[in-house]
Amino acid sequence: MRVPFLDLKAQYDSIRDEIHGAIDAVIEKTAFAGGPFVTQFENEFADFCDCQFAIGVGSGTEALWLPLLALGVGPGDEVITVPSTFIATAEAISLCGATPVFVDIDEHTYNMNSDLLEAAITPKTKAVIPVHLFGQPVDMDPILEIAREHNLYVIEDACQAHGSEYKGKKAGSMGDAAAFSFYPGKNLGAYGEGGAIVTNNAEMADTMKIFRDHGQSQKYYHGMIGWNARMDGIQGAILSAKLKHLESWNEARRKNASFYNEFIRDLDGIITPYEADYAKHVYHIYAIRVQNRDQLISKLAEKEIFCGIHYPVPVHLQDAYKSLGLGKGSFPVAEKCAEEFVSLPMFPELTEEQIEYVATNIKELI
Ligand SMILES: *Cc1c(COP(=O)(O)O)cnc(C)c1O
Repeated sequence: MRVPFLDLKAQYDSIRDEIHGAIDAVIEKTAFAGGPFVTQFENEFADFCDCQFAIGVGSGTEALWLPLLALGVGPGDEVITVPSTFIATAEAISLCGATPVFVDIDEHTYNMNSDLLEAAITPKTKAVIPVHLFGQPVDMDPILEIAREHNLYVIEDACQAHGSEYKGKKAGSMGDAAAFSFYPGKNLGAYGEGGAIVTNNAEMADTMKIFRDHGQSQKYYHGMIGWNARMDGIQGAILSAKLKHLESWNEARRKNASFYNEFIRDLDGIITPYEADYAKHVYHIYAIRVQNRDQLISKLAEKEIFCGIHYPVPVHLQDAYKSLGLGKGSFPVAEKCAEEFVSLPMFPELTEEQIEYVATNIKELI
C-alpha cells in the first residue's frame, strides 16, 4: 500500500467542480490581482477567525512581515519568537531590520515556553510572535499577560493553525494581529501562494492594506513606500470555495490523529503528539518523536510510506542566522526535538486502512 505524506490530488478530485467554477468566475470578470474575489474571501475568513478584518496577501511570509511594519518595528528593535518554527517567522523580523530573539519551547506542546519569556525581554523588545506549531494553539494567556505588563505587541504565527482553538477562541483572534499561510499543503491551501493577516485593529488594517498596494490609498498617489503584496484573484476565489470545507477537513485530521494515537500511543520508544486541555489541535502536522529517526524514515519509505521532518534544524542553528552567535546548547528542548521529530502522513483524505498500515509498520520497526 502506498501512503504519501500529502495528497493534494485526492482533495482536488473531491471538489473539482467548485474549483473550476471559482477559476472560471475570476477569468470571466478578469479580476486577477486583488479585486472582488479577494475582498469576498477576506470577509469570509475574518468571520471564520472571529476577527473584524482580514487582509489577503501573497504569502504567509508577507502576512508576518506587514503587521510588524504596521506596528513600526524596525532597526534596533527586538522581537521574541521560538527556534522551532519555519524560518519565515524569523525572516519577517529580520526583513524589518529588527533582531529575532528566541525562547525555548515546552517539551510537550512544542510551543513557546512562557516561563522563559520574561527573561528574554529587554528595553529593545517590541513584540512577541508565538507560533501555533503543527496546529496546536500556544498557551496564550500567560503570554498575553506578560506582553501587557511590558507593553509588547503580540502577533500570532497561525500559518499552521487555521481553525484551531485556545479555550474556545479561534487561533488568530487573540493577538494584535495574526498571520496565516495558504501555501498549498496548509490546512487551508491555495492553488499557488497566498496568505492573510487578521486583526481587530482598524488602524493597523488600513496601514497594511495601503502598504500591500505600493503605499497608495488612491491610484498613483503614494503616501508611503509600500510593496506589491496583493493576493491573486484566482487564489481568493479558490480559497472561498475551500473555506466551506475547512471545518470538516480539520475534523477528519483530528479523527486521523486519534486513529494514529490508538495504534501507536503505547509503544515504547515513541512519543505521540499531546493535545493540551485548552487546545483544539488541527493537526497540520502529526509529529512523533523517536530515536534513530533516519533509519525509521528510510525503512518506512521502503514500504512506500513517506514521512517528513518539521524541522531538522532549529532556526538559531541555521547558517543564515550564524551572526546571532547562538550555538548548540542555546535552546536544548528545541534542539532535542529537532533531532527526534518525524512527521507521519497526515491529510484529511487519509483512510483508516492507510493509518493502520503505517502504524503496523512502525510497530514492527520500533
Ligand atoms: C508556512 C509557514 C510560514 C510561511 O508561509 P508561506 O506562505 O510559505 O510564506 C510561516 N510560518 C510558519 C509556522 C509556517 O508553517
